Amino acid sequence: MGKSERTDILVAGTGPAGLMAALAFADAGFAVHLVGPAVRTDDARTTALMAPSLRFLTEIGIAQHLIAEGAPLRTMQIVDATRRLVRSRPVRFSANEIGEEAFGYNIPNTVLHRELEAAVKDRSAISWTQGFVERWHISQDGIAAETDRQVRIEAQLAVAADGRNSSAREATGITVFRRSLPQAALVLNFSHEADHQFVSTEFHTETGPFTQVPLPGRRSSLVWVLSPQTAEAHAALPDERLSRLIEEQMQSMLGRVTVEGPCQVYPLTSALPATFARNRIALVGEAAHVFPPIGAQGLNLGIRDIKDLVTVCSARREDPGADRALADYSRRRRPDILARSGAVNALNASLLSDFLPAQLARSIGLEALSALAPLRGFFMREGLQPGSGFAHALSRGREQVRR
Ligand SMILES: Cc1cc2nc3c(=O)[nH]c(=O)nc-3n(C[C@H](O)[C@H](O)[C@H](O)COP(=O)(O)OP(=O)(O)OC[C@H]3O[C@@H](n4cnc5c(N)ncnc54)[C@H](O)[C@@H]3O)c2cc1C
Repeated sequence: MGKSERTDILVAGTGPAGLMAALAFADAGFAVHLVGPAVRTDDARTTALMAPSLRFLTEIGIAQHLIAEGAPLRTMQIVDATRRLVRSRPVRFSANEIGEEAFGYNIPNTVLHRELEAAVKDRSAISWTQGFVERWHISQDGIAAETDRQVRIEAQLAVAADGRNSSAREATGITVFRRSLPQAALVLNFSHEADHQFVSTEFHTETGPFTQVPLPGRRSSLVWVLSPQTAEAHAALPDERLSRLIEEQMQSMLGRVTVEGPCQVYPLTSALPATFARNRIALVGEAAHVFPPIGAQGLNLGIRDIKDLVTVCSARREDPGADRALADYSRRRRPDILARSGAVNALNASLLSDFLPAQLARSIGLEALSALAPLRGFFMREGLQPGSGFAHALSRGREQVRR
């Protein structure tokens, strides 16, 4: 083995979760060593980041750059475009119903990655070894990683931000419950004739959601969940033909559509580990939860993982990787991760299912949301920040009792 380094926190993975974890730990006063390849510059996706996530990104100093190149999400609507027996009315959620100007911002991933990388390079407390961790060595009082470039890094805690096939998670021996899904997401950006007025629309179809999300100007991003074969076939179509298909699917809601730039296909899976930390390794981002892209939950949940982990470790600075710290982290994350994964997987399954009771349950849920403003308010608040829907309902209840 060539070089050897010592640090407080080792972060494996240079996707958005790894870069954010490195920044948050450095800002909390820890020495951080990041291991991962060069940051991706070819990701055609955009990420809808909700208001609490933007507050976190403000704390690590990059939100203003992201907002300048993103678009606000003022209204989100769900349209039942299934041809099933039971269908529901469209449901519209407006940020101003809960006193907010916007739920969040839709940011191109190229911009997000660029700004995170620049911020990481700017922090003297972060060292970055480019490459991959090849081997993990776990002991009672520390953890060491060996990289493919013959560097050994020793730390008190390793943050596994190495994605859905996390090798760090495998090294801990944590069991993972996986489900392969008969779906893939076709991802692209497009321009359109009509103004989107900062409305995002999720059309529910029998293969999964078709989601348009605003970008600056008369442009939007698209995540279209299809069978893997159809997604690949659509991606291979000439732009003109694909543009017409998208326009038809949106019922010409935004007028004429023109596909712009690259079109990519992401296979979908669902994975949930039995626990979120063990043996000096804490899981964050897709190493801790993978589910279909419905309702813009994935990275927003990953940011809450990072916030909780930094809070727990800051309270146990003498040894942030000790068993008690990891048990505390896992306990804190469990309800949020289980609730989000469960809700997204159940909604996705109800779209794919021909089973009438599943369709009925989805339809009744959407009808109730469409008809009942307080219920909509509750779900909007919970969607932004777990617990805030309950907190608001409780304070309203107390107010009424007082009156
Ligand atoms: C189509 C689509 C749309 C989405 N839209 C949204 C949205 O609007 N809002 C939202 O919140 N979420 C969204 N998500 C989810 C979001 O994209 C993910 O949550 C996020 O990308 C996960 O980031 P990550 O850093 O955990 O994983 P990744 O981005 O997969 O990064 C993992 C990193 O680890 C590295 N790595 C792997 N192995 C090793 C190793 N051995 N050593 C070192 N490094 C390693 C990889 O090279 C990579 O850099 C969407 C997902 C999809 C598929």
